[in-house]
Amino acid sequence: MTRSAAISQATAQYDSGAFLDTLNRRVAYKTESQEADSGDVLHSYLADEMTPALAALGFTSRIVPNPVPGGGPFLIAQRHESDDVPTVLTYGHGDVVRGYDAQWRDGLKPWEIVVEGDRWYGRGTADNKGQHTINLSALAEVLALRGGKLGYNVKMIVEMGEEMGSPGLHAICEQLRDELRADVLIASDGPRLAAQRPTVFLGSRGLVNFKLSLNLLGKLGRTVAQSRGGAGERDCIDCRWQRQDSRRWLASARGAGVGASRAGWVGSGRRTERSRGRR
Ligand SMILES: [Zn+2]
Repeated sequence: MTRSAAISQATAQYDSGAFLDTLNRRVAYKTESQEADSGDVLHSYLADEMTPALAALGFTSRIVPNPVPGGGPFLIAQRHESDDVPTVLTYGHGDVVRGYDAQWRDGLKPWEIVVEGDRWYGRGTADNKGQHTINLSALAEVLALRGGKLGYNVKMIVEMGEEMGSPGLHAICEQLRDELRADVLIASDGPRLAAQRPTVFLGSRGLVNFKLSLNLLGKLGRTVAQSRGGAGERDCIDCRWQRQDSRRWLASARGAGVGASRAGWVGSGRRTERSRGRR
């Protein structure tokens, strides 16, 4: 197999409309995990769409309920060739944010792909049905070119609650630690720097949710505290450091998804080792 042969086969599948058909079928599932009554369709996406698609590629799959009540189910799939070859773990999520059907401009709709030039509109085309459909399509092309053998094992986890903050994902990965064990994780989800430029992150990314509170009276408070020479000054300087650092944190996080190392720092309201060293 040559790299160019695999790419030309994948391109041909795209040009034939087959890829669009597959993705359109997936976009049609209204997998709005933020809706309380979405349980049936979340399950159906895994059972009726992903399971047969993966079976056609030689995967065995099972659907695992979420250990967190109300959380969407998981699909755990495996394609095992040998104990002596490397194993790739891949990830996808089949849920999407709410469709907000009425808010799409004329001619567009969330649950059916509309093609305008080189842009495809539809909920999930860019997050994340498009990505895992691309990855599985690429896998199919490589399989075909290699005569049905990849030369590595593949495991896949698909979650249905990513847009709710991935309830149960951590727990399920802990529970199935051995079953999901792999040599490398290749996941396609997350920010891109520009639509025209493929974005690849190497290493592990993390996510930190935090509540940012701005004390907009901090400067005034510091002035008052300084004029009094009083005990309030230290707290107000902390406020200043927090504001400055939060801005840097947000600026870096927006571009590259970094900043996880600041976990637990912003918003603590107290001096920390980090701020102490910089003063
Ligand atoms: Zn996503």
